[in-house]
Amino acid sequence: DREVDKATPDGIADLIARQDLGPLQHDYIDLRAYRERGGYALLERMRTGEHAIDDFLDTMEAAGLRGLGGAGFPLATKWRAVRQQPHPRLMTVNADEGEPGTFKDRLLLETDPHRMLEGALIAAHAVEAERLYIYMRDEYPAALGILRTEIAALEASGIAPHGFVELRRGAGAYICGEESAMVESLEGKRGYPRNRPPYIAQKGLFGRPTLNHNVETLWWLRDIAENGAEWFAKQGRRGAKGLRSFSVSGRVRKPGVRTAPAGITVRELIDEYCGGMADGHEFRAYLPGGASGGLLPARLGDVPLDFGGELAEQGAFIGSHAVVIFSDKDDMREVVKNLMRFFRHESCGQCTPCREGTGKMLSLISADRIDREAIADLEQVMRDASICGLGQAAPNPVRHLLDLFPEDTP
Ligand code: SF4
Repeated sequence: DREVDKATPDGIADLIARQDLGPLQHDYIDLRAYRERGGYALLERMRTGEHAIDDFLDTMEAAGLRGLGGAGFPLATKWRAVRQQPHPRLMTVNADEGEPGTFKDRLLLETDPHRMLEGALIAAHAVEAERLYIYMRDEYPAALGILRTEIAALEASGIAPHGFVELRRGAGAYICGEESAMVESLEGKRGYPRNRPPYIAQKGLFGRPTLNHNVETLWWLRDIAENGAEWFAKQGRRGAKGLRSFSVSGRVRKPGVRTAPAGITVRELIDEYCGGMADGHEFRAYLPGGASGGLLPARLGDVPLDFGGELAEQGAFIGSHAVVIFSDKDDMREVVKNLMRFFRHESCGQCTPCREGTGKMLSLISADRIDREAIADLEQVMRDASICGLGQAAPNPVRHLLDLFPEDTP
């Protein structure tokens, strides 16, 4: 940690080499290069009033831009709600990318960090936030070092007032990606999710109305404002709007971050964007949304990948667009046991249904004979009585295993 503290862009490659985290893959666009390409002109136009906030929000609404951290809440609705709250207001950026299989924000920050920073400063301006906090995943030392350097450059150039942007490091807790737990952590407390209401838009960080966004959501603002709502919206498929960054991993020939249309199906994603299945592997199943979004068989591979819709009808969700592909070489019961081990480990322990239920669920699906009645009972309790989405969604892959993969359950 002390070494990470000293990281500078020049030293990052050395630091990563010494920590054996793999080489720094990308040259990134620094402040000078970003401004040469027209960067921060939009922020300036908004600050001077040349580009009105209401027009900006109308554009984002027509584009169909939603929060891309997992919840998919419409961006314009969220900003308008915060703008109606009393002053003082704050803004947070959730860069604690921890959903298994998600690595898109890392790529965006390590290649074009100012696109997110400009978006964040625009959002902070729009809701008249007094301060902007970036909650950064500490396991991304390169992105952390880049942000430190580039925030200092923004202050030196006068684009961001000194001390306006505060960079805070997370401590590796999955639950701190949940916005109210992140707010608790930013306040210096243990990252326990809060009961809602009140929502953080009403009473968030330090009790103040707070606008919170994921990295990718902010990253799209400039492109949409410059190219227009229609340019963005029309790229979706099957009625979905816009583009998304999918993190694709597993048994495909070319895994990675793929910018693809909202509403694409997993079969199209594999064939058009990932070079097909890896050699010797036949498509069998997939996680549409990381650990929490459920587990679907290949026969449901033509469901559009978007918020709600047919995915929700299957009891699944797209979340942060982490798509993990499995093949005929994978044991689905082992996959689900692994996911439950993850939830058991990452449960914050605040409420009993999740703290005890995740471990109990793991033992139930690990038993020689599956007790479906006991699983159904426990599932209901976890869904009804858990405080946050972790405990409520943890039974998803178990339910799918039992209902959709009968050949994998005794
Ligand atoms: Fe913590 Fe789990 Fe309860 Fe969420 S559901 S508050 S993670 S114990």
